[in-house]
Amino acid sequence: ITTLLDDPTLLRRAAYVGGAWVADGASGAFAITNPATGATIAHVPRLDREQVAGAIAAADQALPGWRALSGKQRAVILRRWFDLVTEHTEDLARLVTLEEGKPLAEARGEITYAASFIEWFAEEAKRVRGDVFGAPQPSARVIVLKEPVGVCVAITPWNFPAAMITRKAAPALAAGCTMVVKPAEQTPLTALALAELAARAGVPAGVLNVVVGQAREIGPELTGNPAVRKLSFTGSTEVGRVLLEQAAATVKKVSMELGGNAPVLVFDDADLDAAVDGVIAAKYRNTGQACVSANRVYVQSGIYERFAAELARRVGQMPVGDGFAPGVMQGPLIDTNAVAKVEEHVRDATGHGARVVAGGGRHELGGLFFQPTVLADVTSDMLVTREETFGPITPLIRFDDEAEAVRLANATEFGLAAYLWSRDAARVWRVAAALETGMLGINTGAISHEIAPFGGVKQSGIGREGSVYGIDEYLELKYLAWEGA
Ligand code: ADP
Repeated sequence: ITTLLDDPTLLRRAAYVGGAWVADGASGAFAITNPATGATIAHVPRLDREQVAGAIAAADQALPGWRALSGKQRAVILRRWFDLVTEHTEDLARLVTLEEGKPLAEARGEITYAASFIEWFAEEAKRVRGDVFGAPQPSARVIVLKEPVGVCVAITPWNFPAAMITRKAAPALAAGCTMVVKPAEQTPLTALALAELAARAGVPAGVLNVVVGQAREIGPELTGNPAVRKLSFTGSTEVGRVLLEQAAATVKKVSMELGGNAPVLVFDDADLDAAVDGVIAAKYRNTGQACVSANRVYVQSGIYERFAAELARRVGQMPVGDGFAPGVMQGPLIDTNAVAKVEEHVRDATGHGARVVAGGGRHELGGLFFQPTVLADVTSDMLVTREETFGPITPLIRFDDEAEAVRLANATEFGLAAYLWSRDAARVWRVAAALETGMLGINTGAISHEIAPFGGVKQSGIGREGSVYGIDEYLELKYLAWEGA
C-alpha cells in the first residue's frame, strides 16, 4: 500500500507516544481492513492499559513546557502543521478512502475541512484573553484569566478519521493543553499520519500522542486516569453515556458530540431542485454515515409526489463503488453490522407499508455495498425515522401543516442538526425558533465548517467545536480578587 502514497513515510504502523513510535503492543496487534475490498491494509499494535497510562504520563510531562509558550509561539507551530497537512492532502485523502471507504473526492474534502480547524485555531491561539471588572467595593478589581485545562483525551469515530481529530486537537493545543488521541479501531492510519505531520511541524514530544488499541481495554484508563482533566468524545450517544459515567468518578470536564436524528422539513414554497440537491448532500455524503446526516425527510403534501419522483430519479443514478474509482459517489458501509442495520430499517419500513422508490437492497457489488435508497409513504412509527440509520436511505414522510412538521421534527431525544427548505422568511424564523436543534441548515444541506459552532442539544451532546467558541472547551477561568488593584 505504500506505493499508493507519494510520501510512504506517512504510513505509520505504530502508536505515537512521548515523541516516539511504539510498534509493540503489549496486547498484540490488530488489522485494519479496506471496507471496499475486505483486504487487510496494515496491522497496528494493540496497546494495553499500562502503555496508555504511559501516554497520559507523557502528555502530563509535556504540559508545563507547552502551556508556558505564548499563544503566538503555539500559533506558529500549528500553522506549520496546517501547511504540512495541506501539502499532503492527496496522501491523507488516500489513507481516508483506504480505511474508511468514502469516495476520494470526498476524502479530499475532509482533509481540507480537517486542515481548516488547524488553521483557525492557530489564529485563535493569539486571541485568548481574559477580563477585568470592577468589584462591588471600589478598592478592588475582579480579574479573570483563561488557562489551559491540562491533559486532554480525545476519543474519535471512524466516519471522519481526520476531521474529528483536528477539531479537538487543534483547539486543545492552541489553548496550551496537551492531548492523547484514541482514534477508532477501524481508522487509526489517518490519525497516525496526522501525528507524523505534527511532529514534522515541531509539535514537541508528548504534546500530541496517538494511542491505538481495543476501546474496552484501554477506555477505562483514558476516562479514569486522574491526570486527565478533560475528555472530548465524538461517537454514539450510547457510548457517550458510558464515558460520561466513567468520567464522573474523577469529575472530568467533557465535550460530547453524540448521535443525531436530523429532520429535514421541505415546505410547499421551497425551491424544489435546490431542496433535492440539498437533501442529497445532507443524506448521501459519506454514504449516510455522518451524525448530521438527514435521517428523516418531511415533505409538505403539495410537493410530496414531485419531490419523491425527482429525488428517486437522482438517487437511482448515483454511482456506487470503490472510493478510488473515478466518479463514484457512494462507497461501502463501514462493516457488516452497518449493512445489517440498514437492511433492517428497509425491511421494517416496507413491512409497515413504505414504498421503495429507489434502491432498496444490497448492491450487486456485494460486500459492504448498499444501493442508495429512497422510501416513500414512511410514517413516524417506523424504525427508519426513530433511529439514526447511518446509511444511504432517505425516508420520505408527508405532512400537511407547519405545526405538525415542527412537532414531528422535535419528537426525538436527539437535537444535533436539522434542515429546512422554504422561501418564506417569516416561516423560516418561526420554524428556526421552534426546532430543538444545535444547528439548522436553511435552504442548504452543507452546514459544517470551521467558522461555525458545531454541536447539539438534548442527548446529542455537550459543548461546541470549531468557531470562536470552540477554544473555550479547553480553557478554565481563574478569577483573581485583587484588593488595592
Ligand atoms: P460509532 O457508532 O461511530 O462507531 P462509537 O461510539 O461506537 O461510534 O465509537 C466512537 C469511538 O468511541 C471509537 O473510537 C470507539 O473505539 C470508542 N469507544 C467505543 N466504546 C468505547 C468504550 N467502552 N470506551 C472507550 N471508547 C470507546
